[in-house]
Parts: sequence; structure tokens; C-alpha cells
Amino acid sequence: MKVVLKNLTKIFPSRSKKAGEEVVAVNNFNFEIPDGKLIGLLGPSGCGKSTTLYMISGLQKPSSGQIFFGEEDVTELSTENRGIGLVFQNYALYPHMTVKQNILFPLQNLRGKDKMSKEAMLERAYEAARLVQIEELMERKPSELSGGQQQRVAIARALVKMPQVLLLDEPLSNLDARLRLQTREEIRRIQKETKITTIFVTHDQEEAMSISDMIVVMKLGVVQQIGAPQDVYDNPANLFVAKFLGTPPINVFEGCVKEGKLYIGDDCVMDVAGAEDQEVYVGVRPEGFVVDENGPMHCVPTNLEVMGRDVSVVATHAASVNPQVRSIINSDINVRSCMESGEIRYTLKSHKTFVFNKETEERVYFEVK
Ligand code: ATP
Repeated sequence: MKVVLKNLTKIFPSRSKKAGEEVVAVNNFNFEIPDGKLIGLLGPSGCGKSTTLYMISGLQKPSSGQIFFGEEDVTELSTENRGIGLVFQNYALYPHMTVKQNILFPLQNLRGKDKMSKEAMLERAYEAARLVQIEELMERKPSELSGGQQQRVAIARALVKMPQVLLLDEPLSNLDARLRLQTREEIRRIQKETKITTIFVTHDQEEAMSISDMIVVMKLGVVQQIGAPQDVYDNPANLFVAKFLGTPPINVFEGCVKEGKLYIGDDCVMDVAGAEDQEVYVGVRPEGFVVDENGPMHCVPTNLEVMGRDVSVVATHAASVNPQVRSIINSDINVRSCMESGEIRYTLKSHKTFVFNKETEERVYFEVK
């Protein structure tokens, strides 16, 4: 089922004069979510991710704009009539019911033509349990399950009604690191198996990048960029997106473009033909530095962190916005002599170096060689 958001906007009115201004939680969101894909809604706390999800679910009414499931306008439809499955951060299972009863619950509430026989309900419940691999836990109570297992029950409960759209709001944030990793792979597997259009909200960029077909990066209610995770990482539209994606994060420097050359502080680091003269921020991904004894960028190394296949050189540069510049270098390259000499010089990879206008923070494009 494709989902279309048309000029979707949510404004929360100010509660009182004292409480200040109204909040534009989601501002004119336009997007066509293709059928059968997993979309990651991503952004820092308060950027409007959950509000977007709640509007798609029908739990919140848009201030303006429309939501379509396929060709049908569902904007005015109640949550129950949208054919969605919802999973929240806190699993919200009924504590007095067994796993089986929890999963059966949405089916038992079906009325009229949707009403199912007991056998059919059980069959569906076991099918959903099999999908999330909890068949052997069906007789337990939620308190007898781990966090990861509880979350899988919540997913089974959302899947049992065979939703057209599955909505997940930070479903992994109550899990420890190992379980998070495992459960996110599970979610991906289940989504691929069921081919249900899925929208997944998270503030964790790594999580979103690892399982999504497409990510939507939001800031203060405004969509910043939509695309395949790798494309957005390789081609950020603005400084916010560049900074939000990537671990370790992108290195940001103050610089300028002058007569087709890019300067970081006093270092003339690269040709940027096609870019106009201006003050800029320069973002360099940690993997964008090449150690080069004649390289144009001069840094002062302060620390070396060995990470097996790679080493991470921590350095300083007068034009760096952050106290540290972090590069990731193949461990075959000997950087020890640089550490001893007190200077490390780099050439920058042009496809890992992004230039942003200093005022607008929008990307400045140049001819990549
Ligand atoms: P988080 O990751 O912290 O859950 P989020 O990106 O999901 O954040 P939302 O919960 O969608 O963000 O909130 C977006 C903005 O709308 C925030 O500024 C929030 O304070 C505001 N907001 C959300 N719900 C309400 C409400 N019921 N009344 C007033 N303002 C609200």
C-alpha cells in the first residue's frame, strides 16, 4: 500500500499567553512512500517524527493537508478504520494476559463482517507469532519475558490484523545495545517477508540507515532530505544533514571559496571549479582524509586510536569548528612518524568533502574531479 502525504501540517496551539507561541510540529510535509518499502523517519528530539506518525495513524488530526493510503483519502478516517498496525516504544502489552491472549486481542474485537471464528483467530495468532519467532512463549505473561521478547509480542499483535501499513515509534529504544541490533534485523526480516509498507521512527541515525529503504531527515518540523540512506550520506543537501549522519561524525571547518579554490583557514585544500566566491563551512568525512607528506592541509596530531583494520588519528586545526579533527586511516599506513614530528598533512578526497554556504548552510556544489 503506498502512502501519500500532501502538504501535511500540524500546529499545536499555544496553551496560554504565558506558554508562548504555537508550535509548528510538522510543516508542509510532502512525500509518496512507495508500496512495500521501509521508511525511516529520522531527526533529533522534537523534530516532529512522532507527530507525523500519529497523523498517519489517525491518532492525531492534521491542522491541514491530506493523507492517502493508495488512492483513498484517509485524512478523516478513524485509527480503527485505517488498517494499520502500531508499535510503540513501551510495548504496552496487557500484563494480566498471556502472550497468546495479547496477540488474539485485536482479532477478538473485530465486529460485523470482519468477525472471525475461534480457529481462524488462533491460526492467525500463531502465524504472527511464528513470524516474530515467539511460538514457544505463547502461554507466558509479559512479566516473564525479556524486553526484546515483549517487543516481538507487540509486533506480532500489530501484525495479526494483517495491516496495510505498519507504524513503529522508536520500537527499539528500551532494549540494550545487543538486543537492539538483533531486533532491528528482525524487523527488517519481518518487513521483507510480509512486504508491508512500514514507517519507522527513530532518532538513531545508524539504526535508520541500517534497515531503511529510504530515510527522511527532519529538523524542527521541516523535511531536510529524503533518499536512500547511502545517497543521503554521500550527498547531504545541507550542513544539518551532513552532521546528523555518520559515526564518527563529519569534521566541520570554517573556510572560503576564492577564485575556484577552497580554503580551510590558510590551507588551500582543493579546486572547486564552478563554486562562487563565498564564506563557507567545509565538511570532511573521517574517511575523506588521505595522509600525504606534501598534502595541502596541515593538522597537529594529538592522539592515535588503533581500531584493528583502521586507525583513527585525532588532531587539531585552527579552522576546525570542533576541538578535534578525526580521520580514519587504513592501518597499513604508517602515521607514527607524523605523530612524532608534530604535524600530519592530508589531501582531501573531493567526493568526501562537502561545502556549505556559511549563512544558509545549504550545499555549494562544485565539479568533483
Ligand atoms: P522525540 O524524538 O523526542 O519523540 P519527535 O521528533 O517525535 O521527538 P514530536 O513528538 O513529534 O517530536 O514533537 C514535535 C514538536 O511538537 C515538539 O516541539 C513538541 O514539543 C511539540 N508537541 C508534540 N505534542 C504536542 C502537544 N500535544 N501539544 C503541544 N506541543 C506538542
